[in-house]
Amino acid sequence: MSEYNPNLFSAKKSLGQNFLIDLNIIQKIVRAADISPKDVIIEVGPGPGALTYPIITSTPRHLYLIEKDTSIAEHWQKHESKTVTVVNQDALKLNIGDLTDGKPCKIISNLPYNVGTELLIGWLGHPNIQSMILMFQKEVVDRIVANPGTKAYGRLSILTQWLCEIEKLFDVPPNAFKPAPKITSSVVRVIPRSKPLFAVDQNKLEHLTQACFHQRRKMLRKSLKSLFGDNTENICQQAGVNPLSRPEELSIEQFCALANKI
Ligand code: SAM
Repeated sequence: MSEYNPNLFSAKKSLGQNFLIDLNIIQKIVRAADISPKDVIIEVGPGPGALTYPIITSTPRHLYLIEKDTSIAEHWQKHESKTVTVVNQDALKLNIGDLTDGKPCKIISNLPYNVGTELLIGWLGHPNIQSMILMFQKEVVDRIVANPGTKAYGRLSILTQWLCEIEKLFDVPPNAFKPAPKITSSVVRVIPRSKPLFAVDQNKLEHLTQACFHQRRKMLRKSLKSLFGDNTENICQQAGVNPLSRPEELSIEQFCALANKI
């Protein structure tokens, strides 16, 4: 870590640049990724390298660094080698399978706050991803791991838990970053399941959860009318769901049963 200098670049708010400065947190994140020399690693947004230097020290088989900020990418291009590739691109526009030539890979990232959720949704169900260690705002991690019956439970919880095993690892306080953000962050481990929790077409599940959570205070018998019309109450009963319940009361299994009726 002797090379790491969090002051190397002045932080740009527009790119969610809050750089980690707490060595203990940095170590905990990299240790959680459990990197071995046979691993292909992708780091999104290396910034000045809080995670990148210790990842390189762990000698993965290959490390891909995806960085949107051109001046930061140019800095890392000086470190390119047979085992380190730098891609100066928006991670939202990048196909991970193309990048790694279809090889299995692990993702590690202190995600830029403004695009973190969108990136995660794009990675869900990707066949090449073995595991992800990701940092988000705490509020996003609370939504990812939320159980039915809670305020945080919604589309993100259902889709992520349906496709992946999730473990919240720890919170990270604002003073672990420079500049310090206003909010607490959290680190989460996401491991794609070998097959989804329940058999259902993903588009149907997305469609159904969108209809249900569009107005989360509405009872299902109202919000599902757009999908099932006059048959709504019947279909709810067939799926073992009370049509008078609100969407946050349903388990993932119940959402899948309903989606299978579309
Ligand atoms: N990894 C460093 C750390 O932990 O201190 C920096 C993390 S900082 C929260 C987010 C990083 O992602 C920045 O380097 C930023 O330039 C980069 N970034 C922001 N949006 C991006 C995008 N759409 N694609 C790729 N990188 C992005």
